[in-house]
Amino acid sequence: GSKKSGGNSFQFYTPDMNAHTHDLLMLERDIARAVKENQFAIYYQPQLDLQSGKLIGVEALVRWQHPEKGLLNPLDFIPLAEETGLIVALGKWILQASCHQAKQWCDAGYDPGRICVNISGRQFRHGTLVSLIDETLTDSGLNPEMLELEITESVIMEDVEETFQTFAALQDRKIGLAVDDFGTGYSSLNYLRRFPISKFKIDRSFIQDITHDSNDAAIANTVIALAKSLNVAVIAEGIETEAQLEMLLGMGCRQGQGFFFSEPLNAQDMEKFLAGDFSCQQLLAQARANST
Ligand code: C2E
Ligand code: MG
Ligand code: MG
Ligand code: MG
Repeated sequence: GSKKSGGNSFQFYTPDMNAHTHDLLMLERDIARAVKENQFAIYYQPQLDLQSGKLIGVEALVRWQHPEKGLLNPLDFIPLAEETGLIVALGKWILQASCHQAKQWCDAGYDPGRICVNISGRQFRHGTLVSLIDETLTDSGLNPEMLELEITESVIMEDVEETFQTFAALQDRKIGLAVDDFGTGYSSLNYLRRFPISKFKIDRSFIQDITHDSNDAAIANTVIALAKSLNVAVIAEGIETEAQLEMLLGMGCRQGQGFFFSEPLNAQDMEKFLAGDFSCQQLLAQARANST
């Protein structure tokens, strides 16, 4: 098995430990060290208002500058960090770094909109989340209304009573709550209605084939309508083409994020974006003219 219960993670492994398990152990050791040695970096992906073209937020997406393996994407290490509990230390760093960066941009006169930080299941269920957020907001001086947490639909629904309590504490602080990967889990509409949710994020898997898969289009349409009736904002993630954008505009979707506008940017490039060196206005004007 791969469960670890003590200080020395090797002793619990059986002799038939294969190369894959060995890789995971190395990775686990590396993550622990990388948190201490500052090998993680945050990239920022713009979220846009599809009517005005205005930047409404940036999603913080972690990357790992691994000394041997190069730049690693979160899916290469977040699941393992989640499994081992290292996500708590890593997640703390991500939250603090993102909030400090957002405040720095505000102080420099830029308007990044909301800083949207992904919170994993283990982090969300960890008893220290709310106090960590209080501490981070105090340390950074960031306006709490500028912070939005992205939590996946499945994590939210895992333990609804606990979710209610955590959400209530976060709502008290005016922190935004976005349901990430919306449509991929099993939400109870009754709970959705009662949670203080500020935004649904339509999962990229429904946007990918939206122009030629009528089921995906129907789901996107339904989520947009649901958001409207619950008075919750809705954003489409993973918009890559003008055709996808036109379709979403036709459905009344007001917010979008995706490679069509911008890939996740390192802090320096994000600052250029904020300074207006990149513009999404033209991309949007074209799509709006073509949408029906
Ligand atoms: P997510 O929160 O749903 O983030 C969106 C992912 O889609 C990001 O991948 C982003 O780079 C990618 N993406 C955005 N637009 C497009 C597009 O137009 N086309 C395509 N093909 N992809 C697009 P990334 O950065 O690899 O992150 C993957 C997942 O890892 C995230 O999914 C999130 O669940 C997790 N993650 C990322 N950063 C963090 C973090 O700081 N903490 C935690 N707990 N999880 C994170
Ligand atoms: Mg997200
Ligand atoms: Mg997502
Ligand atoms: Mg996703």
